[in-house]
Amino acid sequence: MYLFIISSFTLLPITYFLVYGFRDRAFRLLLQSDEIKNLVQANDGLSKELKDLILLEKDALREEEEKVKKIDFNSPLSKSILKLQEIRSRNHDSEIAYQITEIIKILASNDLFKVDLEDKAVDDQENLKRNTPSPKFGILIDNSSNVFKDNDATNYIRNNTDSIDFDTIKLTLISSGHPVVYIGFQLFQKYNLISTLKIETDLLKDFFLEVESQYDPTVPYHNCAHAADVCQFMNLLIQNSDIDFPYEDITSMLIAALWHDMKHPGFNNNFLIQTSHDLAIQYNDISVLENMHSFLGFSILQNQKYNILKNLSKETNKSIRDQIISMVLATDMSFHFELIGKFKNKIASETSFDIGKLSDKKLLMEMMMKAADISNASRPFEVAMGWTFQIMEEFFRQGEEENARNLPISTFMNRNGTDISKSQVSFIDFVVTPMFDAISPIYSNSLKPAYENLKRNRTLWSEARNLPPNNLLPLSLTKYTFDSKFRKKSYVVTKAERDVVTDEDQ
Ligand SMILES: [Zn+2]
Repeated sequence: MYLFIISSFTLLPITYFLVYGFRDRAFRLLLQSDEIKNLVQANDGLSKELKDLILLEKDALREEEEKVKKIDFNSPLSKSILKLQEIRSRNHDSEIAYQITEIIKILASNDLFKVDLEDKAVDDQENLKRNTPSPKFGILIDNSSNVFKDNDATNYIRNNTDSIDFDTIKLTLISSGHPVVYIGFQLFQKYNLISTLKIETDLLKDFFLEVESQYDPTVPYHNCAHAADVCQFMNLLIQNSDIDFPYEDITSMLIAALWHDMKHPGFNNNFLIQTSHDLAIQYNDISVLENMHSFLGFSILQNQKYNILKNLSKETNKSIRDQIISMVLATDMSFHFELIGKFKNKIASETSFDIGKLSDKKLLMEMMMKAADISNASRPFEVAMGWTFQIMEEFFRQGEEENARNLPISTFMNRNGTDISKSQVSFIDFVVTPMFDAISPIYSNSLKPAYENLKRNRTLWSEARNLPPNNLLPLSLTKYTFDSKFRKKSYVVTKAERDVVTDEDQ
């Protein structure tokens, strides 16, 4: 009985163990086999991926080899690639090896200089934001254009930079409204200023674009086309003079020309003073616009991303600033006769004018700036006429504004009572010719083409005198400035309106 009882008590856990212990183990084994199965499956996947990767890498390397083969073995590019391959073979970090492979891929491709369109889209977006298009009257600006690719504008500039026949209105139209960028770039290259000033071309381009964007394209005459035109004429005065100007002076003269009329509102100082305009208040009625232009220009340079003088010494910066300010302020026409008189007196006695003396050189540079600023009448008649229409339109708008405000209409600004040809003859006789006469002693014979044009233009305007004034502006100026197919002989002003011909009509 006891034995039975003991046996029963002993057998129970054994049975329990036999029944449940084996079951647990079986379960565990089953689970383990599932895990193993999963692991085997995962391992299969991994090995397959690994195989694919090795194949891909082999393919990529083969492709890479094929491309590298095509590159001249002695070229710096192939040498760089070989060096990179060598570094990759020594490096066991897969991330670094991957990056090196990517670099080799770019270097070995044919698209080394192709712009990444996605990146460019972002850049263009920013450019568009900066050059917000405004309603155009004077200058039509196309922000989508690539200002540096080879096109009609670059060809025109290349062939005409040093010609007195240069037509900046034409350049403005064929460059989609970027004459400052084109002229500026060409002249900075011509005078080797990019390397001398140690600046990046992108910074220079941004500087020109910034200057250009601060001209109001709706102003008929004092817009970026006028700025570029004055700069081109300044170039003629620099290269044709008997003086060998150092790079600092050339830099000052080109910059002064490019920004000398920034943000011009299309109304003159007298109007701003008479109407107590904010600018007149700000600058105490003294050379109101000119002070503003100069202030705006130097404000651009304050921003390091536009500062093309950032690598010059403090002293050079100081002297360039001093020269630019004096040149820009000299464009105030109220000092015109005084300045001419001062310069003529200096030059009259040979011993008194000394280009080595800072004050004398500054005076000469002011004169050059002024001559460039009023140089339109010394261009071929077809070009000069275009500018005349632009300035007259700006004058007439001021006249209308004066009339609307019950102010006396300024001379030459009455749209209905101004004899344009007569005003041009007077301007040539009393303003432009005396200015050229004054600077001629430092130009030997090189002002001859300018004098010839002045003479011819004077004759042509005199012949046009007999016409009623309105016949001189037979078509609207708006049409003239908007005409995308710029026609050089758009209007023949020496004949009556019925004889108006265009190149296309012929
Ligand atoms: Zn000007």
